[in-house]
Amino acid sequence: MSKDPIDRAGLAPRFWERKPLQKMNPREWEALCDGCGKCCLNKLEDEDSGEVALTRVACRLLDDATCRCTQYDIRHQFVPECIVMRPDNIHEHAYWLPQTCAYRLLWEGKPLYDWHPLLSGSPDSVHAAGVSVQGLTASEFETPEEEWEDYIIEEPT
Ligand code: SF4
Ligand code: SF4
Repeated sequence: MSKDPIDRAGLAPRFWERKPLQKMNPREWEALCDGCGKCCLNKLEDEDSGEVALTRVACRLLDDATCRCTQYDIRHQFVPECIVMRPDNIHEHAYWLPQTCAYRLLWEGKPLYDWHPLLSGSPDSVHAAGVSVQGLTASEFETPEEEWEDYIIEEPT
């Protein structure tokens, strides 16, 4: 089993079922991320309809093998537009988050999937379940923005 880059040790069992998102402390909040990497794919949003299409062109900092940000702590030095989700802004972002994203699921009052590392106990289960972007992405550097439409994909769920 890979080492979990997110520290999920010692958290209360199933805390997300008892605590609303707004009451979570920073460790609990971070532990909700399943590591799928899907929020790090570039999206195309239709200005008129508001529809969001997912592409497999990944942010330049995403590691396609681990599905993690390679510079998470200092990422804003390289990608200033990277959105920091917090309990007080999740309502603005839930609509574009992937359908399986834990933040979106809990915001919509839905349970987590059993492959979530908080339930499976392993960071690998998200990849084994086929819901991550592992091995799926194209490079932002090698894919001009005008071609992104050719890279639209269905969300892996
Ligand atoms: S989509 Fe949600 S669960 Fe997946 S990596 Fe992004 S924040 Fe984490
Ligand atoms: S900067 Fe890091 S966290 Fe932000 S979108 Fe890029 S890879 Fe994801």
